Amino acid sequence: MDLLLVKNLSVSAGDKEILHELSFSVALGESVVIMGPNGSGKSTLAKVLMGHPDYQITGGQIIFRDKDITAAKPEERAAAGLFLAFQEPREIAGLELFPFLFDAYKALQAARGQDAGSVFAFKAKLDDELAALDIKSDWSNRHLNQDFSGGEKKKAELLQLALANPVLAIFDEIDSGLDVDALEVAGKAIQRFKNGDNSLLAVTHYQRVLKYIKPDRVLVMSKGRIAQSGGPELAARLEKEGFASVI
Ligand code: ADP
Ligand code: MG
Repeated sequence: MDLLLVKNLSVSAGDKEILHELSFSVALGESVVIMGPNGSGKSTLAKVLMGHPDYQITGGQIIFRDKDITAAKPEERAAAGLFLAFQEPREIAGLELFPFLFDAYKALQAARGQDAGSVFAFKAKLDDELAALDIKSDWSNRHLNQDFSGGEKKKAELLQLALANPVLAIFDEIDSGLDVDALEVAGKAIQRFKNGDNSLLAVTHYQRVLKYIKPDRVLVMSKGRIAQSGGPELAARLEKEGFASVI
């Protein structure tokens, strides 16, 4: 069954068309990796799937869990089970992590018709996830991404992923800015999340994260289109021979 179906999607920012009649699908349980040169439209695609307001959809459709979400608001997509980990997470001074995470969790649970439980139950869950991500627990008093290192920002995205428990997690370069140790922690967090009832769509430049993501399929984007698709061997070939060899 297709969890996500993108049909002939065309997207513009201002008067510039960035994605041109792009189509692909992600099945339930599947891990799909998107690679491609800088500027090919990978981040635009990731943000458009989440409903980012900077982009206009000028053609095509996004179907998620059999519903047309092309015009849905980001919060409706989140409630339906979509999640995006940003390539460049914003720093928001004044937004303390604990209340932010708890409020987001309560809002998502309510939108999904589920009970959020007590603040104590949430704290226990949060402490568990902080430990799994090798983050100090006093961290939750800090402000969202403010003065975080590149690695800490990526861990904050993975923490939000674990709490949101989406059906389709979209990662935009979750591995960028991570040293080897942080990459392993992030990889394990991804493996902790992934099961047969959810799917991954991961944008990455590097083979190294595929040790943890283990893609079923690899798509290569070029100039706002899917230029090539294949199995995991395609990623290995790209790393050896470069994009020019496949697109
Ligand atoms: P990638 O993630 O593959 O490197 P992006 O999706 O970030 O590529 O960008 C694709 C192209 O679209 C680039 O030429 C970029 O400058 C342009 N672009 C992306 N977002 C915007 C925007 N909000 N306004 C104008 N141009 C944009
Ligand atoms: Mg990008």
